[in-house]
Amino acid sequence: MFRKTRIFTPGPTPLLPAAQFAMAAADMHHRTPEFRAMYQRVLGQLRTFTGSKNDVILMAASGTGAMEASVSNLTSPGDRVLVLTAGKFGERWTALAKAFGCQVDVVNMPYGQTFALDAVRSALKPDTRAVYMQATETSTGVRHDVAAVAKLLREAKSEALLVVDAITGLGTTHLDIDGLGLDVVIGGSQKAVMIPPGLAYLSVSERAWQRMESTKNPRYYFDLRRERKSAANGESAYTPAVALIAALGAAFDYIAGQAGGDLERGRNLLIENAETCAQMTRAAVPALGLRLFAPDAPAAAVTAILPPQGVDSGIIVKEMKTRFALTLTNGQGEMKGQLFRVAHLGYFDPLDTLAVVGALEQVAVDTLKVPGFQFGSAVAAAQKTLAARTQQLKATS
Ligand SMILES: *Cc1c(COP(=O)(O)O)cnc(C)c1O
Repeated sequence: MFRKTRIFTPGPTPLLPAAQFAMAAADMHHRTPEFRAMYQRVLGQLRTFTGSKNDVILMAASGTGAMEASVSNLTSPGDRVLVLTAGKFGERWTALAKAFGCQVDVVNMPYGQTFALDAVRSALKPDTRAVYMQATETSTGVRHDVAAVAKLLREAKSEALLVVDAITGLGTTHLDIDGLGLDVVIGGSQKAVMIPPGLAYLSVSERAWQRMESTKNPRYYFDLRRERKSAANGESAYTPAVALIAALGAAFDYIAGQAGGDLERGRNLLIENAETCAQMTRAAVPALGLRLFAPDAPAAAVTAILPPQGVDSGIIVKEMKTRFALTLTNGQGEMKGQLFRVAHLGYFDPLDTLAVVGALEQVAVDTLKVPGFQFGSAVAAAQKTLAARTQQLKATS
């Protein structure tokens, strides 16, 4: 069988062709007017994309580099911080905060769930200096309620900074950074913005900048204040990932182009698109004889799906790969074998979603031998959802 390669993983995500061309053409030195113009333009686009007046810091690192910067720059050894975790990426916050000598309180929820606000309220102490959480826990496909946590902190008159790993939240979730008073919001290049891995970005509030005046943890490459100073001159402190920055600019142009050149509206369309693909996938799951791992607070970024009882999810991942050259993600860590994930963030559209559902139908028949399964039933469920969503979006636009 002839096979076309397709990637349905929640990072890296499929690459936007225009971004790939921009990378190939980005042959310039970084201490030049040419680069400075591009850098300032992309930083401006990032502010529009994140929807905040805050400064955005861009760095050559994977997303975890920006997570580390949010710990090293905002804390001192011995600071009490609170981590809200319900999955692999939440656990990364705990490990990072411990690595920088913080005293870490943890609200730990089972995988597939989100936090009860009462648990957050009672874990918050008067001397909690920062709260770390995810907007979307990519390992489980759960959306956490960032707005509710922000409100809780405000009501408690907490001085804790709220730091949000929105690496799969940006471009899939509406986050009113300024309205909610989010102090740090982190994104990564290989997720919703359709370009290769290697760039991370952070939206940083005034309150967070002030905190950095007194914090004592060591930092050098990930010194946010130094990057801010350089960015004000249109440069980065060290050699920037020039080609990726060019790619990011092209991706933002593309996103804006979806809405007649308006990047803010284009971003909203990107978010609605991920939501549509996620709803289509969720509608198809029961028809495939499968179950959702996180039905209660599903993310738009990625859907986690349980294999039939007694079946290793790796078999589905492998079958999709060998039959269709289509890459899904298995469960992470100890969830390996227990679920598989289909991504919706970035350069996907509803037709891509119909393709992955169609491929899963083939696997349902040939490999899983789902009793009574009829070809087309899962695709039909996805199609109906697409039709309903199209009507709904038309009515509200
Ligand atoms: C992808 C991802 C990260 C960052 O991982 P890197 O491999 O360092 O890019 C962090 N948090 C979440 C929620 C993610 O999805």
